[in-house]
Amino acid sequence: MPKTDAPLNRHDHCKELFPSEPAFRLKQIEKAYFTETMKGWEDVTTLGKEMRETLIKEIPWMSCTPVTTLSSKSGDTHKVVLAGNDEQLFESVLMRNKRDQWTICVSSQIGCAMGCTFCATGTMGLKRNLSSDEIADQYRFWKRFLSEKPDLPQRISNVVFMGMGEPLVNVENVKKAIHTWLDHTDLGPTRITVSTVGVLPVLEGILTDKDWPPVKIAISLHSPEEESRRKIVPTTAPRFHERLAQWTKDYEEILGNRRHHITFEYTLIAGVNDNEDEAKRLVNFVRKTSAVKVNVIPLNLVDGKAFTASSQSGIEKFKKVLLNAGIDVTQRKTMGSDIAAACGQLALTIKSGGKIVG
Ligand code: SF4
Repeated sequence: MPKTDAPLNRHDHCKELFPSEPAFRLKQIEKAYFTETMKGWEDVTTLGKEMRETLIKEIPWMSCTPVTTLSSKSGDTHKVVLAGNDEQLFESVLMRNKRDQWTICVSSQIGCAMGCTFCATGTMGLKRNLSSDEIADQYRFWKRFLSEKPDLPQRISNVVFMGMGEPLVNVENVKKAIHTWLDHTDLGPTRITVSTVGVLPVLEGILTDKDWPPVKIAISLHSPEEESRRKIVPTTAPRFHERLAQWTKDYEEILGNRRHHITFEYTLIAGVNDNEDEAKRLVNFVRKTSAVKVNVIPLNLVDGKAFTASSQSGIEKFKKVLLNAGIDVTQRKTMGSDIAAACGQLALTIKSGGKIVG
């Protein structure tokens, strides 16, 4: 069995190093990471010299370091391979969004145990969870990357947990990272989306978790029926759709005005889940849930997988069935497929389509 524990996060490491320091001092340290003018511990002059020297020796300023950075030909998508302090590699993606700002697609684990059959990350298996710092520092990495390119827009307006891993399997570190961003960046909770394959016990736990931030939630549905979904998402739990429908209603009842934050993601795979009957079954399922939005995703091709993408005309027909039934439906734009940075393609492969920039 691989060791899947995340490394100790900086906050806990600092508490161990300086047990008698007050909480505000630890907050000062955390704030410093996100202060753009500070490039290392030596710049954090609000801390005493002795403390800085200990920090320089004991805690790396960044929890991960870039190994390779690639940019798509269009220049609207960038991907970095990062190494954790144990040298294990993971990826993070930066995409230009329609507001002409940037969205980061963050990873929450190295590899993934969920094994979704269309996804490259799933073929890696789970190597380990990322620490809250390794998740939060993906934002810091991309901030630094943009600051070195002043001709590009500088604002990171959104973060989506759609990189490597299933975030709800690493929920405590995901929560910590989100709180760090909410505390120290201009990201608001509705600009952060946690995308999950639907780990029902954790979703159910969120309903009563006072520490769960009011972020958007996207559920990767991919099929309106259990048996066919299991062929795409093998970890589909028994009675998945029934429990998920009930969960959306409980979410609406308990968390009230957050209900519009639930989206069903639906990757369209030719001949598997994209015909009109499937769309009609999806309408029936959506009607059993609280108000949700459906986002259809054209399949991104992965080497070695037999699946093919639905045609755009097929996608339009599928969307039309939903729209005619009054369901709010959008289609995700594919970005970064030339550098294996699109959804479902992250598996530490470096495609030759883009250009290496670092
Ligand atoms: S789609 Fe997401 S949950 Fe499924 S294997 Fe890939 S990374 Fe894991």
